[in-house]
Amino acid sequence: MEPGSLPFGEYVTNDKFVFQRIEDYWRRHAETLKNFNEFWDGVASELEWFEKWKNLLDDSNPPFYKWFVGGKINLSYLALDLNVKKGRGNKVALIWEGEPVDGNGMPLEVMRYTYGELLREVNKAAYVLKRLGVGKGDRISIYLPMIPETIIFMLAAWRIGAITSVVFSGFSAEALADRINDAGAKLLITADGFWRRGKIVPLKETADKAVERARSVEKVVVVKRIGLNNVPMREGRDYWLHDLLREVPSDVFVEPERLESEHPSFILYTSGTTGKPKGIVHDTGGWAVHVYATMKWVFDIREHDVYWCTADVGWVTGHSYVVLGPMLVGATQVVYEGAPDYPQPDRWWSIIERYKVSVFYTSPTAIRMFMKFGEDWPRRHDLSSLRIIHSVGEPINPEAWRWTYRVLGNEKVVLGSTWWMTETGGIMISHTPGFFLVPMKPGTNGPPLPGIEADIVDAKGESVPPGVKGYLVIKRPWPGMLHGIWGDPERYKATYWARFPGYFYAGDFAVKDQDGFIWVLGRADEVLKVAGHRLGTYEIESALVGHPAVAEAAVVGVPDPIKAETPVAFVVLKQGFKAGPELREELRRHVRNAIGPIAEPSTVFFVSKVPKTRSGKIMRRLLRSIALNAPLGDVSTLEDETSVDEARKLFEELK
Ligand code: ATP
Ligand code: MG
Repeated sequence: MEPGSLPFGEYVTNDKFVFQRIEDYWRRHAETLKNFNEFWDGVASELEWFEKWKNLLDDSNPPFYKWFVGGKINLSYLALDLNVKKGRGNKVALIWEGEPVDGNGMPLEVMRYTYGELLREVNKAAYVLKRLGVGKGDRISIYLPMIPETIIFMLAAWRIGAITSVVFSGFSAEALADRINDAGAKLLITADGFWRRGKIVPLKETADKAVERARSVEKVVVVKRIGLNNVPMREGRDYWLHDLLREVPSDVFVEPERLESEHPSFILYTSGTTGKPKGIVHDTGGWAVHVYATMKWVFDIREHDVYWCTADVGWVTGHSYVVLGPMLVGATQVVYEGAPDYPQPDRWWSIIERYKVSVFYTSPTAIRMFMKFGEDWPRRHDLSSLRIIHSVGEPINPEAWRWTYRVLGNEKVVLGSTWWMTETGGIMISHTPGFFLVPMKPGTNGPPLPGIEADIVDAKGESVPPGVKGYLVIKRPWPGMLHGIWGDPERYKATYWARFPGYFYAGDFAVKDQDGFIWVLGRADEVLKVAGHRLGTYEIESALVGHPAVAEAAVVGVPDPIKAETPVAFVVLKQGFKAGPELREELRRHVRNAIGPIAEPSTVFFVSKVPKTRSGKIMRRLLRSIALNAPLGDVSTLEDETSVDEARKLFEELK
């Protein structure tokens, strides 16, 4: 095993779940791959199709794969009409909570929609879209916060076969304009504003600036979320949603289009962690099958669960596991508009307590933030309803895993780290309490899901044994897979299929342990090469986060005349700890002891924050550019520019 590899082992189980033997999981998993077509055929048959497919997988023109060819399906029908038909018409589908609170910290706005009500709202929205001239194959950009209308319009678009391009509401006018132009959207849906940390974000203003540069947009629909006065509305282009709805018959029914399985349902731009965002295209049938299967296997949704995924709909997690997933399995879900720490750092715990959330899906960046605030905040609330927690977005540091398991889960939950990406459409590697659960390990992603062939390969594409680091690849097509980059088939081939012909290249650096569990160690293009050894950024970061003083760490490699590269660490301390030369030396020593001398950072910078994408992922490439004095490149997804200035200043002081 190479130095720096994570300490594998340390199984965690509890008596609330039945944990199976790992060998038995692999036997079941091997069966799903051996009978690949039958397996996915069986899963897909659990959904209702207007017409069954003729060909499960058309792989005649790789990498342009097609799933469920000849099948006809509709996402809005599956999410709504079908639940009503199954008797869930009066079941609550959506509990929405706005950010503003009263003097006691209680929400001022809570709205509940049953499946029946949501079906009515979606029909009205679909009618509005049609009246505005939107039809099958048209792109619509959605620049909306976390409000019910966002979900309603996405489902309405999919009902009539329009293609959504959701742009995160935190993006700038330029970022929005670029995405509208790339997708060629004819309609933009936005809102007057929304609440964030007690302040109003005037969204329409930003949208107007974007539309000046986005020539494809003919019409703009504006949702009145805040009730702002003086929202400039351009005659003939801008329409208030409530005005449009006034003209809709109250019992309107818009027939769900019988869409080809391969019909695109959405375009979504990746998080932009590593470079210019790519417009990833997803189909309808394959995506539905994948999302449905993972809702069952990974989240194990039962009739009485209350599910909460904290992701914004602007990211793929919000698409697959807020808008579509919970509805495919008829779940009740919570959607929250605002900031996690508003008005205090226990807002999320209060939400879990009040709605008795049982299945919770969140991100390591949020967890690290809560660790920084301390465990008193969650301890004030009864979180005993939780039974399953998963995280997504970045590797979860073992220390963050342990904190979540103990403090939020009371050591009685399944806690996993689901690996996937915008391109995969759904979860690929994870623990599966709803399928066949194997023991947990703090920090691992776990085994590939049934029907998914994931592996670690070396630079030549050869599978490597456990303990040897390499590149994460997917060796066979899977139902949720992307169907290209919008308008750029060459970039699609070059980015994902050229590096290891025949395999999908995820761009992540990873290792398998002796059980076959996968551990993502960081981005492949951020791997450090120190004195002939390769270290994933996450290995060193996790060692740092393992120190009691450290809340968050970002590590980048900078050139070194002797070692080729040397790690430099940016560290955010927990509340109550003081930066200083002693702590700096202690942290360097801590990494040396945890991993080995090669991993010891040559410098530890104390910062108040590290640069992150607006989805909360650490943007190491910016730190590296600063260290190398190189141009920053695309910063459209950067959350807070002061983080970059802070890092730059520290580097300059060092020189
Ligand atoms: P871009 O592709 O534009 O650089 P991005 O890769 O951050 O942005 P996403 O599709 O949102 O865009 O993120 C997918 C990536 O997130 C994965 O490639 C992986 O690096 C990381 N990731 C997601 N979930 C996990 C997880 N559970 N453990 C480790 N890494 C994860
Ligand atoms: Mg990516």
